[in-house]
Amino acid sequence: MIKNNFKIILLIFATIFMISCKNEIKPTSEKLPSLKGKNILMVYGGWDGHQPAVFVTKVSKWLELAGAKITLSDSLGVYTNKKIMDKTDLIIQYWTMGEITKEQFLGLENAIKRGVGLAGCHGGLGDSFRQNPEYQYMIGGQWVEHPGGKIDYTVNVLDVNDPISDGIKDFEIKDTEQYYMHIDPNTKVLATTKFTDSIHSWIKDRVMPVAWKTYYGNGRVFYLSIGHDPKDFDTDGAKELLFRGIRWASGSRYEPKENTLSAVYE
Ligand SMILES: [Zn+2]
Repeated sequence: MIKNNFKIILLIFATIFMISCKNEIKPTSEKLPSLKGKNILMVYGGWDGHQPAVFVTKVSKWLELAGAKITLSDSLGVYTNKKIMDKTDLIIQYWTMGEITKEQFLGLENAIKRGVGLAGCHGGLGDSFRQNPEYQYMIGGQWVEHPGGKIDYTVNVLDVNDPISDGIKDFEIKDTEQYYMHIDPNTKVLATTKFTDSIHSWIKDRVMPVAWKTYYGNGRVFYLSIGHDPKDFDTDGAKELLFRGIRWASGSRYEPKENTLSAVYE
């Protein structure tokens, strides 16, 4: 009898322990907003070398699988379409260089300010509309160089207690561009890369953000510098960072505002 009671007490303690562990260690997938039923606008175009249509086909498949409703547009004119912009939760833009009109930019800017999320990668978000500094103010960075063109490099995922980068290991990415950028030193950086002296001796050991999160008005902005070729997202770490960043950015309208301020200079 005593033995049985002891077994029962042990079982109760084990159950309490398991429940408390479950509450403590929340899987990343639960910490990020779900894409199910979200309206995502994918805007693609600009310099053709970045294969915007191939990128959109690849990424829209992930989003569809996650239950998102997708609207595609190969025109920046969509930013002036109030009906579409009003129902959009998240914009994924993949538009390298090119030009944006004043009206188109206002449509985009107003949407993000009032809480539509913005996510994207590489030149499609970080090298669009070079003539528009307000756009760069919104993203938090601008491409300036990719020393050596297509090379192999390492991405270091930072341990910053963030569900976008949580648990992703450092990874190598091959035959693609390592972006050197001018950046806003206040964003929350999630991954970095270190340059070598193989192309430009003076940049040896310089560390550059690869992924960050920030806000523009009420809108969540997520950026990843990987993605010269859509095949870059066949690398698990790259895919995971982009997909999780998209999920995070889709939540601006539904989640409380988060503190992403992470100033380098105090
Ligand atoms: Zn590129």
